[in-house]
Amino acid sequence: MITIDGSEGEGGGQVLRYAAALSLLTGEPFTITNIRGGRAKPGLMRQHVTALEAAAAIGSAECSGLAVGSSDLSFRPGSVVPGEYHFAIGTAGSTALVVQTVLLPLMLADAPSRIVIEGGTHAASAPPFEFLAHTLLPVLTRMGPRLSVSLERHGFYPRGGGRIVLDIAPAPLTPIECIERGAFHSGKVEALIAGIPFDIADRELKTARKVLADWPEDAFAPVQLPADHGPGNALLITAECEHVTEVMSAFGQIGIPAERLAKTAAKRMAGYLASGAFAGPYLQDQLLLPFACAGAGAFTTVKLSEHTRTAAALIARFTGRAFAFREDAEGRWLASLG
Ligand code: ATP
Repeated sequence: MITIDGSEGEGGGQVLRYAAALSLLTGEPFTITNIRGGRAKPGLMRQHVTALEAAAAIGSAECSGLAVGSSDLSFRPGSVVPGEYHFAIGTAGSTALVVQTVLLPLMLADAPSRIVIEGGTHAASAPPFEFLAHTLLPVLTRMGPRLSVSLERHGFYPRGGGRIVLDIAPAPLTPIECIERGAFHSGKVEALIAGIPFDIADRELKTARKVLADWPEDAFAPVQLPADHGPGNALLITAECEHVTEVMSAFGQIGIPAERLAKTAAKRMAGYLASGAFAGPYLQDQLLLPFACAGAGAFTTVKLSEHTRTAAALIARFTGRAFAFREDAEGRWLASLG
């Protein structure tokens, strides 16, 4: 039985999701106290409850303490059963973060799965659908399993109502090396708007153009979604390179000017491109679990995030596998295992 203090390290929901995934992968039960103790409003939120319910459902697990607001829970895994599952978050909580919880156990199961998840697809502090589809899953596909995800409906904060469908064809994981991102092929900036003034998309695109000044004019485009998918807005900045596609994003928020959101996301992309690294600031923590399951591998990345350090520590506790992190002279980091 592993005991986790949920306030340590990053101290957010990721600790819980990774603990559940690792528990299913290793068969090791865990208890966690001070859940999301590092956050202003600690305890389980709806999206974390659904993520743990999903983990318990696919992994025949016994889980106690699973309720909104709860700060402690215990999780005893059973065997992973692949198949068809449907999980509804009921808020704009992130569908991609439910994926983050069940993906690895199902990728290593003995038969395919199809997972339908309803909730948020484009909301702050979580991977947007496009990151899942174009950044994370293609890297994991290179390790062996066949993975695809489709977006049936957008879900923005606060309404939610989005829907994604994930197909997983398992295979043993082959270690990979993701050192060079290769040549830059193309860049694209899309301002999604649903049921809100067009002017917001326009302001975001103008701001992003100032930062990504060497990207061609036709790389910047508004995308008008059906009004009933909203209200909502997201800015998606995609860089397609030879070996990886990275997606940086920003999500419209009442009280935060469109220019500020767009500038932050565009600068994040500019910083990533200048770094020469393979993985951007969010892909890095999401690669650790698959690489740990493969037992070896390496990738380059930008400055290490607290999410990454926390995930690596948790992986070491469950599996005994410790990543080595090393910074090179240009400020690029190398994460390696095995
Ligand atoms: P909390 O409310 O406790 O912060 P949370 O459940 O939303 O909880 P975090 O612990 O902050 O989660 O973890 C967020 C996860 O989402 C991390 O894996 C992070 O890499 C990923 N993530 C956050 N923002 C983005 C983004 N813009 N693009 C891709 N991935 C993202």
